[in-house]
Amino acid sequence: MDYQHLLERIAADVAPLIGSGTPAEYIPALAGVDPRRFGMAIADLEGNVFGTGDWRVPFSTQSITKVFALALALAEGGDSLWERVGREPSGNPFNSLVQLEYENGIPRNPFINAGALVVTDRLQTLTGDASSELLDFLRQESGNPDIGFDAEVAASEHEHGDRNAAVAHFMASYGNIDNPVPALLDHYFWQCSIEMTCADLALAARFLARHGLRSDGSRLLTRSEAKQINAVMMTCGTYDAAGEFAYRVGLPGKSGVGGGIIAVVPGRCTLAVWSPGLDAQGNSVAGAAALDRFTTLTGLSVF
Ligand code: GLU
Repeated sequence: MDYQHLLERIAADVAPLIGSGTPAEYIPALAGVDPRRFGMAIADLEGNVFGTGDWRVPFSTQSITKVFALALALAEGGDSLWERVGREPSGNPFNSLVQLEYENGIPRNPFINAGALVVTDRLQTLTGDASSELLDFLRQESGNPDIGFDAEVAASEHEHGDRNAAVAHFMASYGNIDNPVPALLDHYFWQCSIEMTCADLALAARFLARHGLRSDGSRLLTRSEAKQINAVMMTCGTYDAAGEFAYRVGLPGKSGVGGGIIAVVPGRCTLAVWSPGLDAQGNSVAGAAALDRFTTLTGLSVF
């Protein structure tokens, strides 16, 4: 398949949507990003990467990193993690507290903030330094040693992090957090602040298309675990619009409020797209449209 030609076609098709929506406003570091940015990359299983637009411009990955943290926590600690976090869509906003009380401090899934905090807590217990472990992994899988944290975003997350702190303390009261909450929040905010390009993300996510194999050919996850993560991305990866995303795109995907979305075609390729304008659910307007065009033009969905 001529991915380069395909990407140019997709970029042209979604051009009228670039700039639609609103960049995330909850921290100044994100609100100031130019909404007219658009980039998209595709990585094949061999590690060739193709791109269009701003595909080599770093942006704030935010919740996309939840996928990688989950993969590392499963790889290091196995599926006892699922005793502490569920795998059902929540039907509530990503930072909601209400459901947690009804469900005794067990978050619905690893991609809402509560679930991601449990995953990071587990990774912290397993490795002693969750955010550095994650950063090292992303650097290795993408082949880009320059991937780093954005200290301004991390500080901003802290400053506006009362709700995440509340969620973490609440779960701790149910015994579902092992580490001191302030240390856990540090690691979680660093994790959210990681900056990567579309090229980096598409390359780093390849283990999900390679049924659990890392870029060097070693095994990170069993085939079954890779399937599980893809399944949870499909059902829970795009906030309260996972049903709509599955309907339109038909691929496992994970979005972040920085405007990025990754998507996986198992056995074939990975995609990453970035455009900061978000819809009401927090998903990139042009990004979701670009992935929609990808599956429409190629027929490469999981259905
Ligand atoms: N750093 C964000 C938060 O925890 C993550 C937002 C997101 O991308 O969903 O509030």
